[in-house]
Amino acid sequence: MTEALRVVIAGAGPVGCVAGLILARAGIPVTVLEAEDTLPQDLRASTFHPPTLDMLAPLGLTDRLLAMGLKAPTYQFRDRRSGAYATFDIGALGGETDHPYRLQCEQYKLTGIAVADLEAMPEAEVRFGHAVSAVEQSDDGVRVTASTSDGPASFDAAFLIAADGASSMVRSQLGIDFEGFTYPDQWLVASTDHDMAAEFEGLAFVNYVADPDEWFVLLRVPELWRVLLPVAADADPDDAISDETIERRLQGIADIPGRYTIAHRTLYRVHQRVVRSYCAGRVLLAGDAAHINNPLGGMGMNGGIHDAVNLAEKLKRIMLQGADQTRMLEHYSAQRRAIAVEYVQAHTHDNKTAIEEADPVKRAQHMAQMQRVAETPELLVPFVRKGCMFDAVARSMAVEPD
Ligand SMILES: Cc1cc2nc3c(=O)[nH]c(=O)nc-3n(C[C@H](O)[C@H](O)[C@H](O)COP(=O)(O)OP(=O)(O)OC[C@H]3O[C@@H](n4cnc5c(N)ncnc54)[C@H](O)[C@@H]3O)c2cc1C
Repeated sequence: MTEALRVVIAGAGPVGCVAGLILARAGIPVTVLEAEDTLPQDLRASTFHPPTLDMLAPLGLTDRLLAMGLKAPTYQFRDRRSGAYATFDIGALGGETDHPYRLQCEQYKLTGIAVADLEAMPEAEVRFGHAVSAVEQSDDGVRVTASTSDGPASFDAAFLIAADGASSMVRSQLGIDFEGFTYPDQWLVASTDHDMAAEFEGLAFVNYVADPDEWFVLLRVPELWRVLLPVAADADPDDAISDETIERRLQGIADIPGRYTIAHRTLYRVHQRVVRSYCAGRVLLAGDAAHINNPLGGMGMNGGIHDAVNLAEKLKRIMLQGADQTRMLEHYSAQRRAIAVEYVQAHTHDNKTAIEEADPVKRAQHMAQMQRVAETPELLVPFVRKGCMFDAVARSMAVEPD
């Protein structure tokens, strides 16, 4: 089962595509196996943080994403009841990045261009309709079996990257626990073409709006506004996504004449989970297959892309320069798990605590503190470094190999 110079990647999501591009551009043959027959076009992640844009630039992806997205130079924390808000200027970090803004752009636009690039490269192939169903490994290789409409197909490689998402088949196949918890409430994301900026004073493209009963997140993507709302744990799912319920909730956010046009809706459960190790021999977990978190902060896809870059660079050193495999892969796991637990899980959970704070005194204190941060450069810079994932990247790089 050895093909000394091939990497198989399960999943053509943002993580699998970015890892595949880095490897193929280094001359390493890559086979990406994607379960679906075409790229999923669902509305999921929509924010690219500055460090992610910096990482995608050498792959020729950032300029094309910029052409398809909207720059958000600021983001806001708002109080739904008082109307008070604080605006955080990402430009405060101008010297640290070539991209001092969040880019609002749907993740399917990234996978669309990345798959097209992979398909144009002789080192890469993308096979749709190939759902990874079994993995075997020996000391020197991996055999990956995929279910296809023509029956099972097997692929031999030196390594398998499991980038097959939150319900990872590879993770289940290997019996790896996904430790953590699931929030009791459900989450609704709905999008509308109504111009929400006309309904709020000074609205940014990314807004976290606190309320003890019904917090919400309001995000602009190029053609739509997206609203993220909590749904009670025991709510009927069909009712939660019905036209009437969504209409009532959107009218509660901004009372407009006539009805909202709802372009899209999804109800989902949210988890905070991380695997204990990102490597199991020659199988390496990355992205949602290794860690999932709530979307408050937009860190899921970004953290996954940071995994992909870190892992692909280490595989290049192992495969092309003979670097020590065990040491490199354990370093990958240590670096990326540390930030998933200490930074992403902690930060996104803190965001949820703040946005749903019930105590009016604490809520007012928090807003006053946010406004102080926004107006005080010495406070703003560290705040934005944390919120835009600069700290996450720095913390990961600071983890030394054993
Ligand atoms: C409804 C929803 C809303 C979200 N909103 C946000 C947000 O606002 N901000 C944010 O940062 N994150 C958000 N996320 C999370 C974000 O989408 C993920 O963090 C990101 O997609 C992770 O990328 P990935 O490549 O690891 O996995 P995915 O994007 O899930 O890609 C996995 C790929 O693997 C394929 N696949 C699955 N099983 C197999 C198999 N057995 N064999 C081969 N291929 C397989 C899938 O079809 C898919 O193409 C959201 C997620 C959901 C579900």
